[in-house]
Amino acid sequence: MEILIDEIKKTSSDMARRGWAESNGGNISLRLKEEYYEYFNEHKPISDWMKLPETMPEIGGDRFLVTGTGRYLRNIELFPEKNVGVIETDKKGEAYRLLWGYKPKGAPTSELPSHLLSHCRIKEKSDNKMFAFIHTHPNSVIALTYAVANLETKSLTKLLWQSHAECIVVFPQGVEFIPWVMAGSMDLGKATASAMSRRNLAVWQYHGICGCGRNLDEAFGRIDVAEKAAEICLRVMAVGGAKQTLADEQLKAIAANFNCTVDEEIFE
Ligand SMILES: [Zn+2]
Repeated sequence: MEILIDEIKKTSSDMARRGWAESNGGNISLRLKEEYYEYFNEHKPISDWMKLPETMPEIGGDRFLVTGTGRYLRNIELFPEKNVGVIETDKKGEAYRLLWGYKPKGAPTSELPSHLLSHCRIKEKSDNKMFAFIHTHPNSVIALTYAVANLETKSLTKLLWQSHAECIVVFPQGVEFIPWVMAGSMDLGKATASAMSRRNLAVWQYHGICGCGRNLDEAFGRIDVAEKAAEICLRVMAVGGAKQTLADEQLKAIAANFNCTVDEEIFE
């Protein structure tokens, strides 16, 4: 358990120091591997069962480390038991209860629908190898959703791939663009989960980005690379726009060189 707490401390502090988690912005969830279950057997659950907004049999009986609602990511490194908690779903995936944390009293992030619905999809698509999901507010990714007209998944992905030559290796399935939906809603949760079934990154227009990975480092790394590409893209726009860029053939060659399976539809 301490290892997991150290990992979430590191990730949340990095997010805060990069300016991606102002105030109580940003949230993290990590599905626990069974080897960590034993730690909780000596603890009594700290809440009753609470109904999930939708039945999620894919994650029935699973446990998650989740950041708390209203809590600041920058404070996790100081007081992990106050700002993070562990929840458990029931066997049918109909309800959840709190097992640990959120001291003295609290609840998981208001973006729990996006997190849990996405965990259903990423667990499935990775054959149970993906455990981490992050939502955060990086400046340049958000700025791009204002600065570029008529953004959609293909144009956003292409723009990011072209803005740094290694992007296509880090997210060969592209970045899903989700037009503005109310934060914390089931609609946003469903759109995000659907995106996660196809890709490892999804941008929420005017709001932020979500990323998944086998662990927190991988999820964080994907977002970090997308944010760097977005920043480069904005800098290029600020000095009058690109005078040249990576051609489709060059992008495809990079992906082939690193044995990446690219979403070919992005090139259509
Ligand atoms: Zn947010």
